[in-house]
Amino acid sequence: MSEDRYIYDLSEGDASMRSLLGGKGANVAEMAKVGLPVPDLFTVTTTACVKTMNNGGTWPEGLADEIAEALKRLEQRTGRTLGAAEKPLLLSVRSGAVHSMPGMMDTVLNLGISDESVKALAEESGNERFAWDSYRRFIQMYGEVGEGVPAHLYEDALAALKHERGAAQDTDLTADDLKALVATYKEISNEYLGGEWSSDPHEQLNRAVDAVFRSWSNPRAEVYRRAHNISASLGTAVNVQQMVFGNRGDTSATGVCFTRNPSTGEKALYGEFLVNAQGEDVVAGIRTPRQLHEMQEVLPEAYAQLIKTMNDMELHYKDMQDMEFTIEDGKLYMLQTRNGKRTAAAALKIASDLVGEGVITQKEALLRIEPGQLDQLLHPAIPPKHGKDPIATGLPASPGAAVGGVVFDADTAADLGGKGEAVVLVRYETTPDDIHGVIVAQGILTAHGGMTSHAAVVARGMGKPCVAGAQGIKIDTAAKTLTIGDRVIREGDVITLDGSEGKVYGEALELIPPQINEDFLNVVQWADDVRRLGVRANADNFEDASKARELGAEGIGLCRTEHMFMAQDRLPAVRKMILAETPEQRAAALEEILPMQQQDFEGIFTAMKGLPVTVRLLDPPLHEFLPNLVEQSLLVQRLELTDGDSGELAEARATLAQVKRLHELNPMLGTRGVRLAMLYPEIPDMQARAIIRAALAVKEREGETVGVEIMIPLVALSQELETQRAIVVAAVDDELAKAGQQLDYTVGTMIELPRAALVADKIAEHADFFSFGTNDLTQTTIGISRDDAENGFLTNYVMEHVLERNPFESIDVEGVGSLVEIGVEKGRQTKAKLKTGVCGEHGGDPDSVSFFHGAGLDYVSCSPFRVPIARFAAAKAVL
Ligand code: ADP
Ligand code: MG
Ligand code: MG
Repeated sequence: MSEDRYIYDLSEGDASMRSLLGGKGANVAEMAKVGLPVPDLFTVTTTACVKTMNNGGTWPEGLADEIAEALKRLEQRTGRTLGAAEKPLLLSVRSGAVHSMPGMMDTVLNLGISDESVKALAEESGNERFAWDSYRRFIQMYGEVGEGVPAHLYEDALAALKHERGAAQDTDLTADDLKALVATYKEISNEYLGGEWSSDPHEQLNRAVDAVFRSWSNPRAEVYRRAHNISASLGTAVNVQQMVFGNRGDTSATGVCFTRNPSTGEKALYGEFLVNAQGEDVVAGIRTPRQLHEMQEVLPEAYAQLIKTMNDMELHYKDMQDMEFTIEDGKLYMLQTRNGKRTAAAALKIASDLVGEGVITQKEALLRIEPGQLDQLLHPAIPPKHGKDPIATGLPASPGAAVGGVVFDADTAADLGGKGEAVVLVRYETTPDDIHGVIVAQGILTAHGGMTSHAAVVARGMGKPCVAGAQGIKIDTAAKTLTIGDRVIREGDVITLDGSEGKVYGEALELIPPQINEDFLNVVQWADDVRRLGVRANADNFEDASKARELGAEGIGLCRTEHMFMAQDRLPAVRKMILAETPEQRAAALEEILPMQQQDFEGIFTAMKGLPVTVRLLDPPLHEFLPNLVEQSLLVQRLELTDGDSGELAEARATLAQVKRLHELNPMLGTRGVRLAMLYPEIPDMQARAIIRAALAVKEREGETVGVEIMIPLVALSQELETQRAIVVAAVDDELAKAGQQLDYTVGTMIELPRAALVADKIAEHADFFSFGTNDLTQTTIGISRDDAENGFLTNYVMEHVLERNPFESIDVEGVGSLVEIGVEKGRQTKAKLKTGVCGEHGGDPDSVSFFHGAGLDYVSCSPFRVPIARFAAAKAVL
């Protein structure tokens, strides 16, 4: 076979080939290799899918022929023939992406069943019901996936028939019922497609393969990829596999199992199954399955074999496995295995336990942990004792607490949730179609479906609380009501979900702060042993600083001082300072502000004593401390109309004049940061004094103080920093002299303008450290305003893949990243040991942290809650 073939047979694959064969194909091949019973298959590569996508949907040359040949080989190996009236081969056509996307793409089961082969199937199995059940399932899946018939047309027909027969379950329908249903399904398909659909299994196979290719781009797959930063260009593989039948009667079954509990990480049996069913029933969340341990009684031999397989595969892959299996007439077949998706808590526990069991090393454990996932650990929790009674109970499908207003469809959830409202999505079943609503909802509640359904898997992966299969709840989507007993809950009514216990409360429970557990401390310690990059926090008050320290911050990388100016009780003094007409008046007003600033610094310095704290001098433009121009104009007008020439009017006019004077068309690029300090040197003088007095006071009181680092923002010219440094040094030295004390301190600058990065060698002459302000650097490098762009074109750019990520969330490595590298390099040309860090949103983004590590920075600084994430990300960057 040539190099650029598009198909691999089962025996040719293994786990290392996942980028070509997709995770599912590669892992099925691996299972075959170690001797596990898997149905035979061939895999169409991801390359074939990518070529098809890039070719406007046309298959690459030779693919159709290769499929025909691979099918012949499969027919030979199985001794069966597709579409034959005797010994027919039935196939499943399964998607299989490189990164698993549970339930987001399409699958067609029972392909090859036809008016001829259905009889052979019935005879071979001696089970007519089974044959017709398989047939109706095929038309339903193929019609929907391959030909685009709306699923509800079939579902409605099935529901109508069940209603007519008084059947509670699908399994209550007889062979004759199902035969009639097949006829109805054909009519539905014919009517919808105008007779234009293929009944030739070979043609159907090609169409099904093509449909799976296309399902890579369906909306839910797109939404899922965006939420998980999976590239849209990877494509999916397609597995064409012999069918095994879990719906062949009472000695047949299908199910899903996890080798450890994916919610908590505990080493305990976790799985679900259904007798006489096909796997879609479980994973699609249509029926609420039974607990796996019950299978021991029903199918003891297959059960024992499954348990052994679970243990073997976990050791083989050295990680928790999520497996799909089917039992046909008592014989077990494995259909899938993958490293199971899990909550952050489970990830930590499993990693920690596997190290304890000697299965993996600490380093491997760290590699397993997804830093971005860890913020789940920091969500508020249900208090252990609250004394409230649940209104309903279901399966604890994904742990955590969710409080929000009830909504009954994913679109509404996406709409309201997207606007920042807290919503709980309530659905009939747990389905991947709702993914866009799930992403923004606080939690999910369903009436049907189990804990191993795709939607539950997805919810756990995202840390969304989910209660599934809640008994006794009635959902009326049209009326938008949820009825439990005689309690009616309407859209917007607030409920609370406890996803750890599977409980639903008919009110908003008070939540408590999260508890950091032992596994976390264990594993994060390993991360600290490995990482080079320091991790600091952005904080500007005692509470945040304390939290940051508790979460492992090694200092404050950004303490903003403007918040200290904005407090209500300080505004009058601040305004007096701004309205001052002479430097003396201004100094007097600042004299009033100084003790207040000092008090704030004392709080932070107390929390962080022994660690460094970078204090940034005043950054925002002064108009931010004044009333809004329009409002002030209106006030003046109103006063002019009501009370002629009172003192109030004069004051309002004076303020208006000042507001007008300070008004700027483009304040982000205006008189702010160092520019303000150049105009009003009294401000940095006062701030430097407040910082030093606070540090001395804390040292006196606590016996120890922080490493004081004073930082000048928005510097573009080395002259700016030279001037400001002199002002700060003079003020500090004066304070120290007056106090008769010594204190080490440094003066540095932010690098947040492209020019500053480009002339960093000059700027470094006056700086003891650099801190890259990547928020402003992104705005000024790309030339986009953060506040405006996110409401406009930027979101669109990300949707359309003009940009893969929002550059304010994850650093634009090519552009902004280059400036960071230039800044570091030039800065260190001047001062080899120049300390460099980064502050801003990017400091808590794992991908950006990895970049900063590579760029040789000394530390990142992020919001206190993201500190643990940055610690892990910094370790991963080393590994
Ligand atoms: P997904 O990626 O959505 O999980 P799968 O390809 O795993 O899609 O197929 C969905 C379900 O269909 C599986 O969980 C399994 O139960 C069933 N299935 C897939 N292939 C076969 C097969 N060869 N025989 C029997 N059932 C199958
Ligand atoms: Mg699957
Ligand atoms: Mg800035």
